Amino acid sequence: PRCFCTHEKKSSLDFTRIEVQHLPRVLIIGRPNVGKSALFNRLIRRREALVYNTPEDHVTRDIREGLAKLGDLRFRVLDSAGLEAQACSGTILHRTASITANVLHNSHLALFVTDARAGLHPLDLEVAKWLRRHGPQIKPIVAMNKSESLFDSDGSLASAANELYRLGFGDPIAISAETGLGMPDLYHCLRPLLHQHMLRLLNDDGDHDNSCIGDGSTPEIEESKLPLQLAIVGRPNVGKSTLLNTLLQEDRVLVGPEAGLTRDSIRTEFEFQGRTIYLVDTAGWLHRTKQEKGAASLSIMQSRKSLLRAHIIALVLDAEEIVNARRSMTHAEVVIARRAVEEGRGLVVIVNKMDLLRGKDKTSSYEKVMEAVLQEIQTVIPQITGIPVVFISALEGRGRTAVLNRVIDTYEKWCSRLPTARLNRWLQKVMSRHSWKDQAAQPKIKYFTQVKARPPTFVAFVRGKTQLSDTDIRFLTKSLKEDFDLGGITIRIMQRSVA
Ligand code: GDP
Ligand code: GDP
Repeated sequence: PRCFCTHEKKSSLDFTRIEVQHLPRVLIIGRPNVGKSALFNRLIRRREALVYNTPEDHVTRDIREGLAKLGDLRFRVLDSAGLEAQACSGTILHRTASITANVLHNSHLALFVTDARAGLHPLDLEVAKWLRRHGPQIKPIVAMNKSESLFDSDGSLASAANELYRLGFGDPIAISAETGLGMPDLYHCLRPLLHQHMLRLLNDDGDHDNSCIGDGSTPEIEESKLPLQLAIVGRPNVGKSTLLNTLLQEDRVLVGPEAGLTRDSIRTEFEFQGRTIYLVDTAGWLHRTKQEKGAASLSIMQSRKSLLRAHIIALVLDAEEIVNARRSMTHAEVVIARRAVEEGRGLVVIVNKMDLLRGKDKTSSYEKVMEAVLQEIQTVIPQITGIPVVFISALEGRGRTAVLNRVIDTYEKWCSRLPTARLNRWLQKVMSRHSWKDQAAQPKIKYFTQVKARPPTFVAFVRGKTQLSDTDIRFLTKSLKEDFDLGGITIRIMQRSVA
């Protein structure tokens, strides 16, 4: 019999244990050149060997199917690029379209890819119409690809999202198939849907053991109850393993590579103030040998993986190195910190080995380090004020409570939801507080609402054609953070025009 359950206490589905033919099918669809194949390739990564052509109608059409891996999710992904290229050439349009319709019919989800830089293209509307007609049961996820250059400009991203919202498939997510930006958002969007699909399959399957899937709660509810997922990242030797032991309050490595467990599936869990905290992706650095530790660079790949799964990233720095090198972050550390923020994860910076500064001129070293770190963070991530920084000595077992309090505090901000009525009272005040140089340029925001948490995401409904500029969005973001104590995390504001 198939088993979908995992060995974990709070069972969530373990996709690695599901046979490939039972995995959900996700069709990538969109007009030509938006980056469907690029996304397909990213999702299947180095598993090309698993890609095969799907013979349909006794003719092998170029529909590629591969096994996609995104964090702990597994699904079958289909790339329709080859088909639509033929459809567009006009010659066999009817037949290829009907094959795609057939593939859509057999898919469980659709990823509707668009180009963020182009906004809404007339052909996108065609694709939307086609999807509604042939797959009314499927609500596609709209992915705005090629977003990497727009991430720095809140305004352009928000306008593109506003246009694409008109497709009627909900809020688009910003991704870049080329750089991998936005993959965590795609993950969090797909996860409940794929879980839902697997649960439905289980319920249709008469002889399975229901206890496998825990309390039978819906994935959405389960999602909100999810324990905090924390990733500790940092270069070798900064003290991550020591910190881990401090956090677990046990002077031993808890997670041995037991028989039958792959490194990836090792996950450490502990309780703090009645809350469950999962430490994700510790395996990568925990089991490295002494020699491997010698490599001086922070593994960016490893950290990227952490970013995908973690809610909060704890970036560990070495206080002594800061004193010696006179700069607080190396390039790799800056990349990780920025990336965590861009991806909308919570970031907590931990400066370890503060005990080593004790022997030196105590006050000046201490203060020097604190000042240097705070200043540098502000310089490299100017868009976020108030990123929490904790100074600890993991070796002496100091700083556990401080670290965990900041982590939980950041997590709570990241999950917070503000009621619409309160937001709109706030909006009135904040708009009257601010004076625009040019009265005509003042955006007319009809109302303001939070559409999701983790991270907090808001939509401003703007009257008429005037769009919010980057400056407007920065102003709103700053005010929201100050007035609702949301410092230290990314918040996103999107806009939508209304009559
Ligand atoms: P498809 O026709 O939808 O399958 O599109 P392709 O995957 O073939 O991509 C079309 C073009 O867009 C190629 O030149 C890609 O290199 C480029 N492209 C794909 N994804 C991205 C991205 O995320 N950013 C940028 N800048 N270019 C991309
Ligand atoms: P990892 O590679 O990041 O996991 O680092 P480890 O936890 O293995 O620590 C590397 C070295 O730094 C070890 O020799 C630790 O004993 C030492 N270390 C870790 N934390 C501290 C600290 O707070 N103070 C001092 N003085 N040494 C520490």
